[in-house]
Amino acid sequence: MSKNYRTYNHLINGEWVGSEAVIERISPATGEKVAEFANGTAKEVEMAIDSARQAFDNGIWPKLSGAERSQYLRRWVEKIKENKERLIQIEVEEVGKAIKYARGDIEGSIGLIEYAASLTQTLHGESFSNFGENYTGLTLREPIGVVGLIVPWNFPALIFNQKVPFAIGAGCTVVVKPSEFTSGTALEMSKLAEEAGIPKGVINVVTGYGDPVGSRLVTSEKVDIVSFTGSTRTGKSIIRNSAETIKPVAVELGGKSAVTVFADSNIDDAVDGVVFGINFNQGEVCVSTSRLIIEESIADKFLDKLVSKVKKLKVGNPFNEDTDLGALIHQGHLNKVMEYVNYGKEDGAILLTGGNEIKMENNENTCFIEPTIFDHVQENHRIFQEEIFGPVLSVVRFNGLEDAIAKVNNTIYGLANSVWTSNINNAINMSKAIKSGTVWINTIIDGPPQLPLGGYKSSGFGKEMGQEGMEEFTQIKSINIFTGKRQHFFK
Ligand code: NAD
Repeated sequence: MSKNYRTYNHLINGEWVGSEAVIERISPATGEKVAEFANGTAKEVEMAIDSARQAFDNGIWPKLSGAERSQYLRRWVEKIKENKERLIQIEVEEVGKAIKYARGDIEGSIGLIEYAASLTQTLHGESFSNFGENYTGLTLREPIGVVGLIVPWNFPALIFNQKVPFAIGAGCTVVVKPSEFTSGTALEMSKLAEEAGIPKGVINVVTGYGDPVGSRLVTSEKVDIVSFTGSTRTGKSIIRNSAETIKPVAVELGGKSAVTVFADSNIDDAVDGVVFGINFNQGEVCVSTSRLIIEESIADKFLDKLVSKVKKLKVGNPFNEDTDLGALIHQGHLNKVMEYVNYGKEDGAILLTGGNEIKMENNENTCFIEPTIFDHVQENHRIFQEEIFGPVLSVVRFNGLEDAIAKVNNTIYGLANSVWTSNINNAINMSKAIKSGTVWINTIIDGPPQLPLGGYKSSGFGKEMGQEGMEEFTQIKSINIFTGKRQHFFK
């Protein structure tokens, strides 16, 4: 009988390398096995680190000009374009996300690599010519070395590409650890990079669990920097574990973003934005706007419109073009989201719609949930304070600008927040007062790759995308040059 799932090994120094054990991926949308990944051990991680080390220390990659590296990245983009449909398919199967969003993820990935290719050509240090006639200063911006990249499951292709092209574009070599649930596109895209001529060993991928694969990347003396995207809990352990080897880490962590709607906003636009902000990618988004801060005077009217729009969303087969919400990543995560639905009820919030698990075609192995809205949430409720990572919206009302600002900022997180208003004062005052790395005005979960993404507070530190996203993988060396007649220090 022929198998109808994909099997993958690690990609190390251009070779497919296996492990004794495998990890099965069961699609949360169908309950069918869709892939098998090698379950990496410390041995394969060491091999991959050595491969990246060799490619950095002795290979040509860091020695190439930015223009040459840029050409390789552009060839890589062409390969990805040729394989676009296959990559979209894999992303839908492994994550369970709606195909229209998987399509956006692969298009977004292409945009990220193209942008990284342009930065690669312009990355530079600085010169200082105002130190007097005999003194010149230079800063060299050098690739930092071997990079450990740790990726979560919600945007396997997109987050891979928020990191890899920026790291290798800067001249680094990498070992990538994708999520154990969704490793397919990272492996496929890395293979395409090699087909595009990027030398073996520049991108290595080791699949498997956080411990040992991710943790070994963090503790290895041969890895120069780690860039991690995932939960705040894992982020804290990565920061702790990086101390022993004095390793810089960039950590992109969890969020509890808010969307604030003023009475003066275009209401239909705002309703549409709020629906998208919590239901996009079935709410499994670090920047999901899971708190609605709505001006008291329009709250009831707004919520009527919101609920009727949410009730029209289609939950189900992620391969259908008109599906809005696919499956949650696995049953354990669905259980966690359902616990939060129960906390909401127990704490006295009012359930306006949703709140139920859905098993497609009575298949117990599928993991769907109705889009859910709670009204009259209090700021001390767990559903207002904690990251749920599912399509569960908590609504609170506000009176006046100061009250809105206080409610938005009443969280340990600071990733991204959205504001809807037609008043320029509200737009600018909110933008300045909000404590998060990103603010959207009259738009939501949006942004070109030129704008960096990164957290304030417990959402982490370090930037991805933007010029800063490539500079993250470089270090600065200062060169002091004296060209005059020396005055001796000692007679
Ligand atoms: P997670 O922290 O469980 O796992 C993330 C990655 O870290 C996985 O590859 C995992 O195997 C690995 N890992 C686990 N333990 C590790 C350890 N001890 N050492 C090294 N690596 C380890 O997160 P997740 O459940 O995959 O993803 C969801 C979380 O990611 C949410 O909290 C979400 O907000 C966050 N996220 C943040 C951003 C951002 O840009 N800030 C983007 C997407 C997701």
